[in-house]
Amino acid sequence: MENTDSPTEARLTVDGASYRYVDLPGLFGDAQRKLPVVLRLLLENVVRNMEGEERQQAVDGILAWTAHATSVAEIAFQPNRVLMHDTTSTPALVDIAGMRDALAEAGADPASLNPVLPVDSSVDHSLAVEYFAQKDAAPANLKLELQRNAERYRFLRWASKALQGVRIHPPGTGIMHTINLEQLATVVTTQERDGEPWAVPDTLIGTDSHTPMINGIGVLGWGVGGLEAQTVMFGMPVMQRIPDVIGVRLTGALRAGVLATDLALTVTQRLRAIGVSGEFVEFFGPGVATLSAGDRSVVANMAPEYGASTGFFPVDQHTLDYLSATNRTEHAIRLVEAFTQKTGLWFDPHAEPRYTRTIEIDLSSIGMHIAGPRRPQDLLDYSQTAHALGKLDFHPAQAHPFMPKHPVAIAAITSCTNTSDPALLIAAGLLARKARALGLSVPSWIKTSLGPGSPAAAAYLERANLIDDLSAVGFDIVGYGCTTCIGNSGPLTEPIRDALAHKSVYPVAMLSGNRNFPGRIHPDLDLGFIMSPPLVIAFALAGDAEIDLSQQPLQTTPDGKPVYLRDLWPTREEVAALVAQAADPHDYPRAFALASENPAWHGLDAPDSARFPWNPASTALRRPPFASTEQGSQLGAYSAYPLLVLGDDVTTDHISPASAIPKDSYVADFLVSRGDDRDDLNVFASRRGNWEVMVRAAFYNRTLVNRLRPGMPVAHTLHVPSGEVLPIFEAARRYQQDGDAVVLVAGERYGTGSSRDWAAKGQRLLGIRAVLAVSFERIHRSNLIGMGILPLRFAPGTNPDTLDLQPGDKLEVDAAADTLSPRCKVAVRLVRADGSVQPIDATAAVETQLECRLLRSGGVIPLILEKSLATRAA
Ligand code: SF4
Repeated sequence: MENTDSPTEARLTVDGASYRYVDLPGLFGDAQRKLPVVLRLLLENVVRNMEGEERQQAVDGILAWTAHATSVAEIAFQPNRVLMHDTTSTPALVDIAGMRDALAEAGADPASLNPVLPVDSSVDHSLAVEYFAQKDAAPANLKLELQRNAERYRFLRWASKALQGVRIHPPGTGIMHTINLEQLATVVTTQERDGEPWAVPDTLIGTDSHTPMINGIGVLGWGVGGLEAQTVMFGMPVMQRIPDVIGVRLTGALRAGVLATDLALTVTQRLRAIGVSGEFVEFFGPGVATLSAGDRSVVANMAPEYGASTGFFPVDQHTLDYLSATNRTEHAIRLVEAFTQKTGLWFDPHAEPRYTRTIEIDLSSIGMHIAGPRRPQDLLDYSQTAHALGKLDFHPAQAHPFMPKHPVAIAAITSCTNTSDPALLIAAGLLARKARALGLSVPSWIKTSLGPGSPAAAAYLERANLIDDLSAVGFDIVGYGCTTCIGNSGPLTEPIRDALAHKSVYPVAMLSGNRNFPGRIHPDLDLGFIMSPPLVIAFALAGDAEIDLSQQPLQTTPDGKPVYLRDLWPTREEVAALVAQAADPHDYPRAFALASENPAWHGLDAPDSARFPWNPASTALRRPPFASTEQGSQLGAYSAYPLLVLGDDVTTDHISPASAIPKDSYVADFLVSRGDDRDDLNVFASRRGNWEVMVRAAFYNRTLVNRLRPGMPVAHTLHVPSGEVLPIFEAARRYQQDGDAVVLVAGERYGTGSSRDWAAKGQRLLGIRAVLAVSFERIHRSNLIGMGILPLRFAPGTNPDTLDLQPGDKLEVDAAADTLSPRCKVAVRLVRADGSVQPIDATAAVETQLECRLLRSGGVIPLILEKSLATRAA
C-alpha cells in the first residue's frame, strides 16, 4: 500500500490496484482530527462532490464547526445509494409510474425518467405471522404473503424491469437492514470518476428510520422520508445543516450475561433523557473497542428510538472481522483497512474529538433490561414488569379461570434490531435448549414466533443444533421479514381473543423489537415490553408478564421442581463457543442467493412496458393524483378550520396505520364496496399503492384523541360549519367541496415513529395546508414539506392546551411563497368564533433553501416533473 502524498493526487494501492481518494489528513492536517468521524465523512463527501465557491464554503463551514461544536451552515450531502423496503418503495415507485404518465401526457419520453442512483428495495415489511409454532411455518407464511400481495409484487417486478438501477430483493431474502449489513454495504466502495478508479466511503440514505443500523460497521447512512429519497434518487443532494454531534463516551466492558440489547435500551434511555432530537450520535472511547460489530449494530439500529439521526461507530478490527465473517472478499477488506487508515477514519480508542455534547456510559454498570410498557425509552430492570404494570388502572370484575391478569399474548423474537447478531439468536437457542431439557413448555394462549432478519440464521442455528430446541418451546422460524415488529403479528390466539372480549385480562406483548407504542405490535394490544431474544423466551415460558424473573420461578418441571431464570441463562462462554462452532461465512451469500431465487416471485407475470398499465378495477394500485404537473403550491394567505386538534407524541402509526385493516372499519366498508373480501383485507401497509384507501385510512387509530370534540368514534372529526361528526375523510371532502382551507394542530414530537411518507401524503390529500405543532420528528417534518405542507412550530409556551381551540375557531395563516426562508417567522392569528383575535407566534419549521423551493413548487413530485420537463425543453 502506498500514498503518492499530494493531497489532490493522493493514491493508495491495494493488492496491486491503485485508487485515488480524498486525503483528509493531507488536505486539512490536525483540523480534521478534531472533528467527530461523522463530520470527517461529510467533509470527504463535500470535497469530492461539490465544486467552486460552494465547496469552499462547505469545507470552511465544517472546519469552523469545531469552534462552537454547532453550526447553522448548510451543506449538500451526496450519498452513493438508496435503500428502501416494499412499503416505502411501492408508493415511491407508484409515484414514478405516475410521473412517467404525466411526462408522456406532456409529450416527453416516459422511459427517460429513471433514478440516477442505485436503489435497493427489499420486500420485507408485508410478511405476516399467520402460521406459527409449526415446522413449516416459514414456507406457509411466505406462500400466503405472495398470494395476498401478488398484484403489488407484480408491480414491483415491473419496476425492477422498467426502471434502470432499481433492484428488488424478493420476499424471504431478509430484513432490509440485515441485507444491508450482510450483503450490500461495502464500507469503502470504488467508483469510476474522470476515467480513474477512486476509493470512497460507502454512504446511503434509506427510507426507514432504522437505516442507521449500518452505522454499526462504520457506514454513514440515515433514514429519510420516501419523498426526500425521491429527490435524492433523481440527483438532488440531501441539503442539511451541518449537524450537531452528540458524543457517547463508552468505558469499561459489558458484564457476563448482559447483552447488546441491554446496552441499546440503556443508550436509548440516557439519550432521550437529555432530549436528543435529530442530532448525529457518535460512540467513542475505550469501551467501543470491547464491542463486536454485531453489538454495535444493535445499538446503532435504535438511533431513532434515542432521537438521533445516526448512532455511528467508526471502523476498526472488529469491523474487518465482521466483513470477513460475512464472506466479503479479502481485497475488499484490505481496501477498507487501507482507506480508513489513510484518511483518518480508522477508530482510535484514545481520541477525544470535539462534540456538541458528551455523555459517558460505563458499560460495566449496565444490567439486564427491558423497556416499556409503551415507549422504548422507559427503561426497567428485567425484574420490574410487575412494578410497571401495577401502575395501570385495570381491575377485572372476575379473574380469568386460567390466565393471569397480564398474560403474555405475543412472544416474538423479531426485528432487524435483535435478530441480525448471531450471538443473540444463539443465546436464545441455548436458553430454549435448557428449557427443553427440563421438560418446560410455553402456555397455549401465547403466540410465539422467531422471525430472523436473515435466512443465514437458519443455517447457523441448524449447525448449532438449536432449531429443534427452539421449536420445542414454540419458536419455530416464521419467515425472514419484519413480521411482528411492524405489526404483522397475525391474529391473537383464541383464548386471548376470548378473554379480551370479556375484558378479563389486559394482555402484553414481549418482543425483541425496537418499538412498543400502543397498537404497534397488534391493534388489540397496547402494552409491550422490549427485551433481548432469550428474555422473550423466558417470559413466554412464564406466561405471566407480571413475574419477577429475578426472584420467582418461571415454571416448574413436570416433577414439580421450580425453574428459575438463572437455571436457564446461558453463560457468555457457552454463547461464544457455539457462535464460533456454528459460524460459516459462506452461509450469508449462499442463503441470500437461494432465497433470491424464489420461483413464485420470478414466476409473477409482470408487464414489460415503459409505462405501467393501471387496472381501473384494482384495489391495490391506483395512479396517484399528486403525480401530476397540475399540483400547485399550498403557500399563501388563508383562513382555515382545524381539521384535527391533537396532543403530544402523535406517531406516524397514528397518522397512517400499517397493521391489519379492521373488518368493521370505514376503510373495510370502502374496500368491500369495491369488491374485496371482508375476511381478507390484508394490512394497511399493503395498500400504499392505492391512494383512495390510504386517504380514508388516515388517522385510523383507536388510541388517537381528537381534542376538537373528545369522545368521537375512531377516525372521526367535527365538520364545524355543519356541526356534524363525520369520518375524517368525509369531513375533509366537505371542506374541500366548500372551498374551506384546513390545517392541523398538534403538540410535541408530531410524527414520531416510522418514516412513513403516506403519513404526509394522506394529510395532503385531506387538504391540510399547514401543520402547527410544538415540535416535529425529523423525518415526518421533511415528508410534510415533500408533500407541500408547511410545518409551523409554535413559540415556546404555546401548545394545543394554551390555545384551547373550540369548534368555530379559525386560524389565519399568512405564508407567502416569496418571503419564505429557513426558520422565518410566519404570521398566524387565532380568530375565535366570537370574533376576538389572538396573534400566535409561529416559525416555519423549514431548515434549508431546498425545502423552501419544494414548498414553492408544491412538493417533491412537482419539482421532479419541472426538472424533467426543463431538461427535455433544453
Ligand atoms: S425495525 Fe422492524 S419494521 Fe423496521 S425494518 Fe426493522 S424489522 Fe422491519
